[in-house]
Amino acid sequence: MLPPDNHIHTEFSWDTRSRSSMVRACERALEVGLPAVAFTEHVDFIQWGPSDNPMNDVSEARAPGSIQPLDVEAYVAAITECRERFPALRILSGIEAGEPHLFSGSVAALLAQAPFDRVLGSLHSLPRDGLLVGVGWFLNGETAYDVVRDYCAELVRMIEASDVFEVLAHFDYPRRYWPRSAGPYEDAKVEAEHREVFRALAASGRVLEINTASPLASATAMGWWYDEGGGAVSFGSDAHTPQRVGDRFDVAVDVVEAAGFRPGKDRFDFWRR
Ligand SMILES: [Zn+2]
Ligand SMILES: [Zn+2]
Repeated sequence: MLPPDNHIHTEFSWDTRSRSSMVRACERALEVGLPAVAFTEHVDFIQWGPSDNPMNDVSEARAPGSIQPLDVEAYVAAITECRERFPALRILSGIEAGEPHLFSGSVAALLAQAPFDRVLGSLHSLPRDGLLVGVGWFLNGETAYDVVRDYCAELVRMIEASDVFEVLAHFDYPRRYWPRSAGPYEDAKVEAEHREVFRALAASGRVLEINTASPLASATAMGWWYDEGGGAVSFGSDAHTPQRVGDRFDVAVDVVEAAGFRPGKDRFDFWRR
């Protein structure tokens, strides 16, 4: 039995739109044998809102790009429709909150609009030249490990400053954009920084995600999570197309099991130590 896929995007995410649909993602989940899914749509902001915590030196938050607000009403209607249409699948609502420690007021205002079952916390960007910029834009061979270290330091701040999220998404996000010129990625070079992130997350009793869109986290890295007291692991495909729902969960299950975690209390639960 595969674990739930707790990280899926549909047409309600600004970077997904017609590439996916909630209905087709549900069909795919049933096809591959998933017990449950969480539709965790992107919630990102371009400008600082009234109760946010702007970073020093970052005045405008982000360059205007393709980020769009989540249409909460339409999203909730689609969740309701899919729950009626696919009774054999447990369907959780959710969001992937980008930089929730910085956009705390904006995220809280969004969450007040409807009940969301699953909130993922994500760090996609770091400050560069007065703006928040996606880490993929400035990873290069010479500084790639320094970027990972900065990323980890910001994750610790995010964990300590925000309790709005239950699951830390893709802790290994910079690896998605790993430059060839940096050579093969070596876990050991950033062990101390990752252990610090995992200690902070474990101390707050929250859940670490293994993300199967990224190069898969090693059993070594997941083992650090276990060593540092991590209690639970969430599996997420980060699918932006229906075909990727539950993708590589067979491999991810092996990695998480090798690190010491086991299925939780029922098939809908996180995996636990
Ligand atoms: Zn993300
Ligand atoms: Zn995502």
